[in-house]
Amino acid sequence: MGWKLLISSITIFFLLILLFFYVIPLKTINFESTPVNSNFSSFSEVDNNMQFYPNMRFPEKSISYEILDCPLQKQDDMESAFDIMEDVTPLNFYSVDNNADIYVTCEERAKTNGNLFIAGEGGPTNITAIGNLAVILNGEILLIRESNCPTPNIALHELLHVLGFAHSTNPENIMYNITNCNQEIGDDTLQLIEDLYSIPSNPDLTFGNISASISGRFLSINLTIINSGLKKSEDFKIQILSNEEIIKTVDSESIDIGYGRFIGMNNVWVSQVNVQELELIIDAEFEEINKENNKIKLEIKQ
Ligand SMILES: [Zn+2]
Repeated sequence: MGWKLLISSITIFFLLILLFFYVIPLKTINFESTPVNSNFSSFSEVDNNMQFYPNMRFPEKSISYEILDCPLQKQDDMESAFDIMEDVTPLNFYSVDNNADIYVTCEERAKTNGNLFIAGEGGPTNITAIGNLAVILNGEILLIRESNCPTPNIALHELLHVLGFAHSTNPENIMYNITNCNQEIGDDTLQLIEDLYSIPSNPDLTFGNISASISGRFLSINLTIINSGLKKSEDFKIQILSNEEIIKTVDSESIDIGYGRFIGMNNVWVSQVNVQELELIIDAEFEEINKENNKIKLEIKQ
């Protein structure tokens, strides 16, 4: 009996030591993230109040359209508006039979708003805006009047609305709210389209809200990963580092444009004592608009 008692006592003694140092939370340390820098240097200096929201664009340079029930003249106007835009911008428009990015419809009856004759209506119908880009997923054009000009100014005006452009106060600009044949597309409009579509059509994963704390030797962490890019991501991994050593790797499935994923974990074992800094890394093998926002450091909250 003496031996058994001795072994039991020693075992309990060691278990208590283990419990004291590793399991019982001694104190809780909270961590906070340092700000993420995610500016796009390519066009941050362009004055972008020409659009409904800053930096609106379609996910791809190639944009599909479907013209539904339009008389021949209006259909011609619309198609030549697409051709003109193809000539002066990096954009490319192609016709499809369903799931179009842009739907074009026509109305025979004249529409009035007070004394103003409405020539058409157009605009984005589905936008997702997180991060620096407002991504246009769908747009619609309603052509009411055909153009009497050599260029299809009404169709061009409505197409620019769909591309995110608001009205101009300059009567010579095609985006002025009353149409005339001498109006032209502004050079600043063309420059902005050029700049916006120079961004590659890639995903852009980055961190949203994060909260983390360590109690004793255990980490609790809540984090959100968002895709503020122009394409659905593929699967990726998230690495959690403590004092520059990986303590946990988590797999995540793909995230769609404009969506986020919440990941919460408790009781992640931290082998180091005296953790001064945590780091989170989005480990993605695919191309992204910006890879620099895939890392974030968490420091002890003072
Ligand atoms: Zn308008």
